[in-house]
Amino acid sequence: MIITNAHLISPGFEKKEASILIKNGQIMEIGNLTEGDVDLGGKMLLPGFIDIHSHGADGADVCDASAESLEHIAQTKRKEGVTTWLPTTLTQPAQRLIEIVETVRDWAPTAPLHIPGMHLEGPFINVEQAGAQNPQFVRDPDLNELHALHRIFPACILSLAPELPGAYNVIREAMGMGIISSAAHTKASYETVTRAMGYGLKHLTHFGNAMTGLHHREIGVMGAGLLEDTLKIEVIADGIHLAPEMLELIFARVPRENIMLITDSVSASWQADGATSLGGLEVEIKDGVARLQSNGALAGSTLRYPRGLKLIQEITGEALSDLVATTSWNQARALGLTNLGKIEPGFAADLVVLNEELEVERTFVDGV
Ligand SMILES: [Zn+2]
Repeated sequence: MIITNAHLISPGFEKKEASILIKNGQIMEIGNLTEGDVDLGGKMLLPGFIDIHSHGADGADVCDASAESLEHIAQTKRKEGVTTWLPTTLTQPAQRLIEIVETVRDWAPTAPLHIPGMHLEGPFINVEQAGAQNPQFVRDPDLNELHALHRIFPACILSLAPELPGAYNVIREAMGMGIISSAAHTKASYETVTRAMGYGLKHLTHFGNAMTGLHHREIGVMGAGLLEDTLKIEVIADGIHLAPEMLELIFARVPRENIMLITDSVSASWQADGATSLGGLEVEIKDGVARLQSNGALAGSTLRYPRGLKLIQEITGEALSDLVATTSWNQARALGLTNLGKIEPGFAADLVVLNEELEVERTFVDGV
């Protein structure tokens, strides 16, 4: 297949009137051909988005433990231009988590996008920072449980609170298993974060949310994310989970290669306002924002992937070619997916076509 007349935008690289030759799902050549199979009419073509943190979409949740739900989420994420997705769990009972991961394992081979593994958010979190995670099922880090889940289907990311008993050991063992540990739902001090980094902690989950804030005498987990150049941070760029000014601060301070845009979308995304639920908790969607009915905590997001990119472009005023690493390449590198996240020969033909409003017009996964 040959795509012509594309405004190609890849990390650090931009080319108008570009053509792309695709063979067996792979990008073979970038050139100036004018004759081909798909004429994009000058529209923008970006690497497909990689959403490493998303629980669900349009009424379906990973924790439904149903292949139909997974397929519906995946098809909906494709409409957002997502070509690689880590199905993300909520804090659930042990047996339920096993059922969920087994369901993902059985469905993944036929998925309409790349599923390299799971993102396990919880259950090893701090109950005092549970946010919209169900506190009833929170428990201390348990290596046996992690092993059991990882054996069923690989965990790519484990989001846990590093201050819990046994967390350092789990972080170290997880690293040996190829699992990235990410600080989440945590009351850790800055010192605890840096100590956990010594054991292999690499990421911060939904930066700013459900973590210790920035204080001038104790800079907390947020301070670690702003200061430590070896930590990568997940960013929900919806202007709600992070104020526009905080997004501005993050992009001014954090090295670009450490920023990974996520949606943290839940089943409320793509849905109208009204009542719904999350992990067994009652949720109300109002003006497109999902909150727990009990305490008003933000219950995941309703963000659609390209809207995050649009907001950071508006806030930073930078060229898309300087921002687009945060939607694909940084995540691919973090996960060790060496053939994803760029539009270059040798990479998978995972592509998203955007109009001038950065709305998705078309998504290709492996050239399809
Ligand atoms: Zn989440």
